[in-house]
Amino acid sequence: MTTILHDETDAAWQDDVRQGVRHVRDLERLPLSAAERGAAQQAAANHKVRAPKAYLDLIDWNDPADPIRAQVIPSPEELDEAEGELDDPIGDHAFSPVPRLTHRHADRVLLFPTYQCAVYCRFCFRKESLTSIGRGYTRAALEPALDYIAAHPEIREVILTGGDPLSLPDAALTEIRARIEAIAHVRLLRIHTRVPVALPSRVTPGLVEALQGRLMVTVVTHFNHAREITDATEAACAMLRRAGFVLLNQTVLLKGVNDSVEALEELCRELMYRLGVKPYYLHHGDLARGMAHRRTTIAQGQALVEVLRARLSGICNPVYVIDLPQGGGKVPLGPCHVEAHEGANWRLRGLDGKVREYTEVVGELDEGGSRKSAAGL
Ligand code: SF4
Repeated sequence: MTTILHDETDAAWQDDVRQGVRHVRDLERLPLSAAERGAAQQAAANHKVRAPKAYLDLIDWNDPADPIRAQVIPSPEELDEAEGELDDPIGDHAFSPVPRLTHRHADRVLLFPTYQCAVYCRFCFRKESLTSIGRGYTRAALEPALDYIAAHPEIREVILTGGDPLSLPDAALTEIRARIEAIAHVRLLRIHTRVPVALPSRVTPGLVEALQGRLMVTVVTHFNHAREITDATEAACAMLRRAGFVLLNQTVLLKGVNDSVEALEELCRELMYRLGVKPYYLHHGDLARGMAHRRTTIAQGQALVEVLRARLSGICNPVYVIDLPQGGGKVPLGPCHVEAHEGANWRLRGLDGKVREYTEVVGELDEGGSRKSAAGL
């Protein structure tokens, strides 16, 4: 019985892939503008083109500024590379002691089982690796990375990223999960994926089974717009939640896609209330090549999150971060509410914009039985 169910569900997502765009030549059957057609070949040489049918079906082709279209259809602007843009915007390569692994922070590593994705996002900050390395999963290719993890007991979390790990077959995922699980000091398996967004039919009982084992599993999705949230993505996320996986979401702040309070507010609410996915990070646009037209300024991002902070509950609010070049890691860019501070006395700006005094009261009782303030300690 189980096998039949898996066959049926696998056929559904395979159809979705087959009927989508798998190669730049498949763009010919889409109603693109003359400028998009003109840019397609050259843009595809820099970063592959791929989108499953389910994702393409979300596009309103009458709207040239459609936020789904902007994420997957090559545009002429991406051929303009600006000064300061980088091949490796966050410094993955400098922290890669063995192929297919990045070790930037002591307790966690990025593991790249594949450099292929179910959908290729035009803004991808790893597009250079996806194009120049581009390879899929093989057991042999991952061996040095797995040996490295086994030899480093400080590693607690393994983050499968990519490429998109969930674009791999169930058998490959089962094998990768089992190999990581066999390393006793690893506690958490994290999966960074756009599959639940762009190819939700791929989230099948077989895929869930492949990921279930000894390790706590966190699936970090990548929704950028509320229009990506559909009955199908809801069903996919419900299946992952029922399996006991923790679901978080990272969004990239993209000009013309989600750079308004209304777009981000709706996205964050629907993620949490409809999908049960906690908005985790809102990323400032990385310095990926050819993406100047999709980047906001940091000041614009800060203005947006300042309003969001006041409108959304804590559980719906993502943290606005920038992933620094040269491997500096993610640092928060959100507004600071500290106006001034002297000793135990702080002046803090509330969500209503008013500044209030706050005096710290911590520590032990003094000899007279009164509680000491921080200033008096
Ligand atoms: S799915 Fe992720 S890795 Fe693949 S192109 Fe999109 S952002 Fe890049």
